[in-house]
Amino acid sequence: MPELPEVETVARDLRPRLAGAEIAGARVAWARTLRTHDPDGFATAVTGRIIDAVGRRAKLLVVELSGGLAMTIHLKMTGQLFVVSSAAPADPYVRFVLELADGRELRFRDIRKFGRVGLYERDAATGDLVVERGGVGVFAGTGPEPLDPAFGIRDFRRRLRSRRGRLKPLLLDQTFLAGVGNIYADEALWAARLHPLRPASSLRPADEKRLYDEVRRVLGEAVERRGSSVDDYTAPDGDGSMQERLRVYQRTGEPCPRCGRRIRRIVVGARSTHFCSWCQRLRAAERTGAAAILRSISGGEPARRGPRWSDLAAGDGAAGLTPADASRARSERTRQAAATRRAATRRAMTPGDEV
Ligand SMILES: [Zn+2]
Repeated sequence: MPELPEVETVARDLRPRLAGAEIAGARVAWARTLRTHDPDGFATAVTGRIIDAVGRRAKLLVVELSGGLAMTIHLKMTGQLFVVSSAAPADPYVRFVLELADGRELRFRDIRKFGRVGLYERDAATGDLVVERGGVGVFAGTGPEPLDPAFGIRDFRRRLRSRRGRLKPLLLDQTFLAGVGNIYADEALWAARLHPLRPASSLRPADEKRLYDEVRRVLGEAVERRGSSVDDYTAPDGDGSMQERLRVYQRTGEPCPRCGRRIRRIVVGARSTHFCSWCQRLRAAERTGAAAILRSISGGEPARRGPRWSDLAAGDGAAGLTPADASRARSERTRQAAATRRAATRRAMTPGDEV
């Protein structure tokens, strides 16, 4: 799922294309894409408004419209946005279209249909987005932006020390920090040499500082590299390259870039979690309650002299591969398939008339 760097990249790509454009209408192919309105109500509310700005808060795109309205777009798992001529061929996976008065369209393509579009008023008192005046804001419970220059180490420490629980679920918790998801939580924890199951309360001041620094460094580098194009993520100006710089995410069984031992995978709160059990230690006292999670560990296949027949990947055409090799080959094929899918989408969506 796109995280802070990916959504930030989409916002930056859309901004020059959309700022100043007038909205001529909206079409909705999958009504549940709309979070706040029915299709007719949405189209009526946005038609004639000017797009003032395109920004991001947490993992949501925020499109500011004239007259104090704002549209949010949550890409969720497979959402993609393209600005194309209205003459571009139809695509069955486009769920929502914003029609512009100059003949272009903002198309929201979303294979899995989890993406959501909302339309809100900006509350003059709180600055938050609300469905109706005095209502609860969309971002009322959302934590601070980790890349905000005003978000300092003291703020981070104060928030960390007020929390219980383990580091991985905490980093994914949007009320703790905004915009961090599975990829960058794993990368930041590896870079900070902190085990994903470390209790937040066990961190020493130096650990807290490393985590603060690495969360910001990893996210900052990912924004510079236009995000990680794993799965279906792409942006209007093209794929990101951060996936080439990921050290542990989806690299189960590969050598840790720091110590050479194999990257492990465990499942924490139903999310795959990648780490190096040598560089990211968990003290015996901190394992209490973590035993069941640690039993789910994979990727630590000890090197063998040769594969056993019983271990050969059945039906994988992979005779001679150890299970770790086969799993690596499979994940490489998955990566290539996702890249091919993104390229095909881009060709289909923009046959020479991306505008
Ligand atoms: Zn290591």
